[in-house]
Amino acid sequence: MQAWVIGNWKQNPATLSEANTLLEALVAANDKGTQQQCQLMLAPSCIHLAAVSARLQDTFILTAAQDISAHSDSSGAYTGDCSARQVADAGATWTILGHSERRQYHQESHETLLNKMSNAFTQRLGVVFCIGETQAQYDAKQTFAVLDEQLSVIKALLTQRLEQSEPQSECVNTLAERLIIAYEPVWAIGTGKVPTVMEVEATHQYIKETVASFHKALPAITVLYGGSVNADNASDFAASSMIDGALVGGASLKAESFLAIANAFNPVKG
Ligand code: PEP
Repeated sequence: MQAWVIGNWKQNPATLSEANTLLEALVAANDKGTQQQCQLMLAPSCIHLAAVSARLQDTFILTAAQDISAHSDSSGAYTGDCSARQVADAGATWTILGHSERRQYHQESHETLLNKMSNAFTQRLGVVFCIGETQAQYDAKQTFAVLDEQLSVIKALLTQRLEQSEPQSECVNTLAERLIIAYEPVWAIGTGKVPTVMEVEATHQYIKETVASFHKALPAITVLYGGSVNADNASDFAASSMIDGALVGGASLKAESFLAIANAFNPVKG
């Protein structure tokens, strides 16, 4: 299975000029024949999306939005929102959804995320769906219960689509081709704290089994780890066959550390 390394730039860099500098360093590394075997993707802020996508057009690096509107997949009176169609028109082929910062600062609910996921698939965007427990939930050994609740959005989407008479094969293919799960323990994001590889493996196995239980025809889903991945610890995660790649925040803002992480995941996973 091909590994994925995705840079979530969040509300960074502050200017387009700085975004371009970071981008040029990444593109130059790829141009020098160090074409990654793993699939690279960048998620710039919405305001930089069109420029970043345009620059990446003839490269092997994909572009993602960090979020899309829950209200309409296309257009409408939703001040401040960007729709799936608009981000696709700006060149994104994927979107991140359900990042813990959106769940925390924007109170994103099950219903909201269901609408966003549905809008993304309607516009043929891939979805990097983030899930993960807080420190208190981890301490209380509630991780799997929290993940069950968060993953239920996927089950609800499948049910909704099948009820709307979408052919089963189409539904299953959409998820198989366009859904990636990023397991990101909230307590590991931006903190420098990381779970052990064994903990991540057990959780990824649980996520894969849970999603597989939603439909018998679903193939194994791609599950990335995210939370304080850096150039020093990436190879530990990359060595595990249960970890299909990384979603990277802070370390994606420097070309050197992002490329080091990509290199760690470079050997094609068996
Ligand atoms: C993230 O926010 O998705 C993330 C993984 O951040 P960091 O790598 O900085 O922990």
